[in-house]
Amino acid sequence: MSPVQEARLCVYCRKHPVEAKWRPFCSERCKLLDLANWADGTYRVAAEPVHPATVAEDNTDTSEF
Ligand SMILES: [Zn+2]
Repeated sequence: MSPVQEARLCVYCRKHPVEAKWRPFCSERCKLLDLANWADGTYRVAAEPVHPATVAEDNTDTSEF
């Protein structure tokens, strides 16, 4: 393992060195763009409904929960 000497690159664009202010991004622009991507996926997951069938089946075995 060699010590990390090179500046870390922005996790979004992978071109510019990370700016401490916007870590782990190089700029506010990259941060916002990355967050936009995350939001897209997060909303999809959050919108996923709980399986009604599973809730109904577990109705007789609630002691485990
Ligand atoms: Zn960047």
